[in-house]
Amino acid sequence: MQTVDEKLITTDFIPFLSRKRVRVSVLRTDKIHPVISGNKWFKLKYYLEDAKIQNKKRIITFGGAYSNHIVATAAACNMNGFESVGIIRGEEPRNYSHTLNDAMAYGMELVFLSRQDYQNKIIPKDLMAVDNYVIAEGGYGALGAAGAATVNYDRTGYDFVMAAVGTGTWMAGLINGKNPESEVIGISVLKNNYELEKQVADLLINEEKVNIVHDFHFGGYAKYTDEFIGFMNDFYNETEIPTDFVYTGKLFYGVKTLIEKNYFKPDSRILIIHCGGLQGNLSLTESTLMF
Ligand SMILES: *Cc1c(COP(=O)(O)O)cnc(C)c1O
Repeated sequence: MQTVDEKLITTDFIPFLSRKRVRVSVLRTDKIHPVISGNKWFKLKYYLEDAKIQNKKRIITFGGAYSNHIVATAAACNMNGFESVGIIRGEEPRNYSHTLNDAMAYGMELVFLSRQDYQNKIIPKDLMAVDNYVIAEGGYGALGAAGAATVNYDRTGYDFVMAAVGTGTWMAGLINGKNPESEVIGISVLKNNYELEKQVADLLINEEKVNIVHDFHFGGYAKYTDEFIGFMNDFYNETEIPTDFVYTGKLFYGVKTLIEKNYFKPDSRILIIHCGGLQGNLSLTESTLMF
């Protein structure tokens, strides 16, 4: 299988709230590939391997018009010789998003479903075929978590590993792959979705408590405020680390706020995993972000 170079990942120390006497590092999984960036590569890789083993020809998956998972799947399928179909939530838009145009450029066939049919994850009849391989929305599932568990970092170097949470696959994999002495804390990007703890728990290999913070969604999935965009710009100015407004901006904002509130005891070593997603910023008007 064609893979991306996972070794490209680097860890940068950032002088971020150092007066609080915590040590904060960032693992830049966003750097592994320009399109299949961050957590999407890790979540996809074992699904693709499984599809290959089963001799499947076509990958079908689900997502919204701005989905990182859709474009990453399109690119990863292109790289590995699979046909791909993206089943997209909602009616076909008059103007396609960057995400959809990029997915099409990677050869993905796009099929638009009404929100009702999408909710039921109905695959249109004319797409049914024996050599389809279906990946759930967002890559949710055991193989996605197994891939996430392989992310490469110093397992004994940190007390806390911080993850953005959408479906919870990423967080579950990080928990499955962590050192027993460390704790993974999730920052939810969804508004009051208390199903997430169960979604994560269902993918865990050993029983563990699931710690998700629900305070940093800024109104809900892909919602944002001026204050939040201001944070993303300031954070970039200070650290030269670009974030996206759907996931990693909320993750970094959340960690910063938790540090300010003395959530972590002094001398804690905190690893924030930048999980990619920067393509999502293309949906913002151009002057919103300075990077
Ligand atoms: C998809 C995505 C997530 C969410 O991952 P889950 O496994 O669905 O929780 C987090 N961050 C980024 C950048 C993503 O693209």
